[in-house]
Amino acid sequence: MTYSPTDVTNNTRDYLHFLNDCPSPFHAASVVAQRLVDAGFTEHSETDPWDASPGGHVIIRDGAVMAWLVPQTVSNDTAFRIVGAHTDSPTFTLKPHASTQTPDGWNQLGVEVYGGMLMNSWLDRELALAGRLVLADGSQRLIRTKALARIPQLAVHLDRGVNSEGLKLDPQQHLRPIWSVNSTDADVLDIIAEEAGLTSADEITAYELVTIPTQAAALFGADAQFVASGRQDNLSSVHAGLVALEKYVADGIPQTGDVCVFACFDHEEIGSQSRTGAAGPILSDVLTRTAHALGCDADGVARMIAGSTCVSADASHSVHPNYADRHDPDTRPIMGGGPITKLNANQRYATNANGIALWRRALAAAGVEGQEFVSHNSMPCGSTIGPITATRLGITTIDVGIPLLSMHSAREMSHIDDQYALTETLGAYWAGA
Ligand code: ZN
Repeated sequence: MTYSPTDVTNNTRDYLHFLNDCPSPFHAASVVAQRLVDAGFTEHSETDPWDASPGGHVIIRDGAVMAWLVPQTVSNDTAFRIVGAHTDSPTFTLKPHASTQTPDGWNQLGVEVYGGMLMNSWLDRELALAGRLVLADGSQRLIRTKALARIPQLAVHLDRGVNSEGLKLDPQQHLRPIWSVNSTDADVLDIIAEEAGLTSADEITAYELVTIPTQAAALFGADAQFVASGRQDNLSSVHAGLVALEKYVADGIPQTGDVCVFACFDHEEIGSQSRTGAAGPILSDVLTRTAHALGCDADGVARMIAGSTCVSADASHSVHPNYADRHDPDTRPIMGGGPITKLNANQRYATNANGIALWRRALAAAGVEGQEFVSHNSMPCGSTIGPITATRLGITTIDVGIPLLSMHSAREMSHIDDQYALTETLGAYWAGA
């Protein structure tokens, strides 16, 4: 499939900026909400009465962001068209005891592993900290520090078996980042406070900070067709949904159609069980409060949800050329081949036949070719938010996503055409395909 090179280039440029602008779920939620406000949406607080007037609306709950777009005219048949994604990625979080000094004088960060990361990929990268600080009055500040730390790999001379026997990493012992040496009185929180424009670390009451590689997202390949960056699982889907929604409202609020919902959850990488995760109440809060605000009674809410559909967008796997036997021998998704529909008999993905038909209509309307992923039978697949929201809400759900290589690495790889194609297909779904 060939797309307009200008359209793909513009989308790619925006995608790279987005990856760099969203080092943490808190940043991603903020950037999504701000861009939607720029596109004419109104940001609300959940403690206010719910607003389902025609137009776009958005709320932020910690590292999650939820948007709903109500058409000019709503009828008895109006349902929800939901695109779900997640803002979080595997990383390290800063522990409460943020810094320690070894007997030899090294100053190190105390970190905890978040999600199922490829630990080796975090070695020998310059790392910054990003996330939110909460001050005594409860206000929060988003921050991103300078390059501050690094987890150096042990030299091959001191680890002779590393290449033949494999790298073994103990998450407590071997993954502590260095941030200084012989800084006896220094506290890393002083540096964080200074970078946040605070007068001292005493002003920081609490924090939720993650590590990020400082290397910016970049293109490579014969035609610069590949994107290298961390967090593409799952900022690829967050960006695609955001841009699709921005384009959908570019010509004004739609006259008719379903209520479009864009649900970006946090905590997918650790199982989704939280107030901002897909297993929590946040999506059903948005759906039921919107339905009530549109005048539905209890049965009306249930009817509206029964007629709804959900596209759960999360990164998928391309066939890896060096491990080609890890995939099903007959289903061979590859980069540049378009968005992937994910299927699994054991319901690790929620896709069913009705969902496939719906997604095929969206692909056709967008002029996009898709492909499929199914596991090798001896290689169980991961899961995603789709089955969780489908289980909670009973909504027909289809799991899709762009193919990646190096998923859960600190620097993953994708293809610019797939990113563009997913964006167009999500737009077609929202527009009523
Ligand atoms: Zn994911």
